[in-house]
Amino acid sequence: FPSKLPDVGSSIFSQMSQLASEQQAINLSQGFPDFGCDPFLLQQLAAFSQQGLNQYAPMAGIVPLRQQIAALIARCYQQRVCPEQQITVTSGATEALFCAFQALVRPGDEVILFDPAYDSYAPAVQLAGGRCVHLALTAPDFKVDWQQVADSINRNTRLIIVNSPHNPSSQVFTAADWQQLETLVCQHGLYCLSDEVYEHMVFDGRPQLSALSFTELAARSLVVSSFGKTFHVTGWKLGYCVAPALLMTEFRKVHQYVTFSSFTPAQFAVAAMLEQHPEQVSGLAAFYQQKRDCFVAALATSRFQLLPAQGTYFQLADYSAISDQPDVEFCRWLTIEHKVAAIPLSVFYRQPPAQRLIRFCFAKNEQTLLQAAEVLCRL
Ligand code: PMP
Ligand code: GLN
Repeated sequence: FPSKLPDVGSSIFSQMSQLASEQQAINLSQGFPDFGCDPFLLQQLAAFSQQGLNQYAPMAGIVPLRQQIAALIARCYQQRVCPEQQITVTSGATEALFCAFQALVRPGDEVILFDPAYDSYAPAVQLAGGRCVHLALTAPDFKVDWQQVADSINRNTRLIIVNSPHNPSSQVFTAADWQQLETLVCQHGLYCLSDEVYEHMVFDGRPQLSALSFTELAARSLVVSSFGKTFHVTGWKLGYCVAPALLMTEFRKVHQYVTFSSFTPAQFAVAAMLEQHPEQVSGLAAFYQQKRDCFVAALATSRFQLLPAQGTYFQLADYSAISDQPDVEFCRWLTIEHKVAAIPLSVFYRQPPAQRLIRFCFAKNEQTLLQAAEVLCRL
């Protein structure tokens, strides 16, 4: 069959989580918490569902949730966005990303993205008829070379995809990064897709910045986030997109026919959570910084070399002192022989550089982290 996505197989997350489950390994591969969410969120979910709020939500999301998202943006970034015209609730960030690409990318358009790149970007751009231009970022700091970005822009360039805090490198854009992005986007009349699903996990007192923090960039950006990450409920698949009204009109044309609307009781529950427990969001960075520090301290005597993690709930580790296997094989070996699963970094690159890096997810109970670290220290 002539596939529209000939290069796509099952995702590394599905592969590694399945292997971890078959091997009964500690799963630090796919990014999801092994602890529960706030009980308030579950009570609210049950309560709204029992009240009978089980039919289609409005296409753009329930109004109270959009109002709460606007309030959150005002708190975090001191920016005003219109809940009616500029916010749409989606079935996870994944749906928002897909709709954004479908709405913006036309056949023949070029889209600049940075490798290692989250796995859903390239296939979604391809389905929209776009061509991905991959720029490689390398360890240890995964810095964007903005001159290289400028040199990659041509008449066909439509969109730049950014992701800060970055999965899988855990690096966070500085204000200077955002400003250089803003300059390029505005100078060349491009658009920006800013994937900010880890926006509330920025460590060590770094400023929490968004494409929304920069007025001229915000005017040409679609910003995507996810309540799955923020409230420890990845399986709820609830996210949203923020964009200027004109772009949002186009985004909604697609969203309307991809899912139409998202799970109604969860929208009410998350709106209640945002209104009544804002500390769950503002405390998230400290919550995950503590987990990062716990994991890093527990690995202090291991032969892994840990890279600095500025944000997200991922920790990169260089294993070259332990093995010279390629990273995919190393991760399979680690899962099968030592019962700890991780994600190889090479799969996030179109042309993987010569490096031996794997990604651990530390969104886990302390006991899980310590158990895994004990094994890893013996390698
Ligand atoms: N973007 C990035 C960078 C992610 O890590 C993830 C989640 N793994 C997503 C998007 C998708 O988020 P969601 O689960 O809300 O679809
Ligand atoms: N975002 C998660 C990760 O990076 C995985 C999501 C998925 O399985 N598609 O691990």
